[in-house]
Amino acid sequence: MRVSINSILTQKNQTVTIAGYVHSIRNQGKIAFLRVRDVTGSVQVVTGVWNKEVFESIKDLSVESVVQVEGLVKESKQVPEGVEIDAAKITIQSTALPLPIPVVTEKGAEEVDVTKRFDYRWLDLRKKESQKIFQVWTVLEQGIREYFSENSFTQLYSPALMSAPSESGAEVFEVKYFEGKAYLAQSPQFYKQMAIASGFEKVFMVGPVFRAELSFTTRHMTEFTGWDFEIAHITSHHDVMDTEEAMLKSGFAKLKSKGLIDEEISVPFARISLADAKAKLKRAGITSEKVGDLSPDEERGICKIVKEESGSEFVFITDYPKDHRAFYHMRDEETGLTKGFDLLYKGVEITTGAQREHRIEKLLAQATEKGLTEEGLSDYLSFFRYGVPPHGGVGIGPARIVAQILGLPSVKEATFLPRDVKRLRP
Ligand code: ATP
Repeated sequence: MRVSINSILTQKNQTVTIAGYVHSIRNQGKIAFLRVRDVTGSVQVVTGVWNKEVFESIKDLSVESVVQVEGLVKESKQVPEGVEIDAAKITIQSTALPLPIPVVTEKGAEEVDVTKRFDYRWLDLRKKESQKIFQVWTVLEQGIREYFSENSFTQLYSPALMSAPSESGAEVFEVKYFEGKAYLAQSPQFYKQMAIASGFEKVFMVGPVFRAELSFTTRHMTEFTGWDFEIAHITSHHDVMDTEEAMLKSGFAKLKSKGLIDEEISVPFARISLADAKAKLKRAGITSEKVGDLSPDEERGICKIVKEESGSEFVFITDYPKDHRAFYHMRDEETGLTKGFDLLYKGVEITTGAQREHRIEKLLAQATEKGLTEEGLSDYLSFFRYGVPPHGGVGIGPARIVAQILGLPSVKEATFLPRDVKRLRP
């Protein structure tokens, strides 16, 4: 029976079977050393002329081929693990051709062009550093799901196919749908609100989101995974922010408990109005032409300022003007500003959230003001006519969070198979 490589370290003088990739080969004529790697680690495998059949069988072996090795675990002072396997049998299960990109990155080796790396993404991901990215995502999501489950959230899945674009037509992919057309959802926004109208008081969703944006940034893809939650009976958008803080705290605590980050995060995060953020930025000499929103430069700037002031890597920006937010964001009666917010983490927006407008007359007026028609929104508006509690929620981009946790240069590095304007494969 195959055992994991990390488990054999304590199995001195036992015969074991391991399997994995050939990480490296050193053949010295009479003796050969292979390093075999599985997901748990790697170990040295030795064979030589004293075992002719095995030695011959690896003559043409190439790196990254898959082998199964049966042999005796022996003490070895020469290797970091302190043990190696003296091979009694090596079975080549799959042979690798010469590699188009390196899997083992040598120190000082030239960086392979990112386009080529993504063309051979499955090889790119064999690297230990790459594997860690998805471990971080998995554990973060595990911690977040624990929060949801301990707090009585229901998970729902919403369709990606829609009969009409959800918010505006510009960023939506149109697909052929039998004799007609369908659109790919730009967010589960309307569906999660419908879930509130269905009587679920707390829901969360994890699913694909599609954006037909001609964006060539390090933060945008045309398809990405979205995390969304929506909660009912709130008194303001601050309840939504409280919930997101608790959710993230649980996710980051899980990362800490598994040794994937050094420090837990502390809540609450600072909550700063857009106007105050602009004033702070101005004082720091960072100005922008962008009215009603923050430019990427300003996002980095305000995060740096908040980090210096409070030590926190997170900051909520609140009180955006209505012209820059979706029609369904509730507005403050006094200021006219929206009850919407963004959450920034290490210089990048990771969330947009809001208290939603649940009163049909106001919602309709706000939609009309933005040039949307009642007809185009008929399914959406309809469920507000049969009783909907006050509610709010967020849309979160996990690839952005993971990229920021690990300091990756792009959200694409935190995505198994990224899709962007120029990439639809592999
Ligand atoms: P941005 O202003 O950065 O373009 P957005 O305001 O369009 O983002 P939302 O529509 O509010 O973003 O989506 C919610 C969250 O989803 C964002 O805060 C972000 O974390 C993530 N997100 C949005 N667009 C993308 C994208 N194209 N690729 C990856 N993640 C995204």
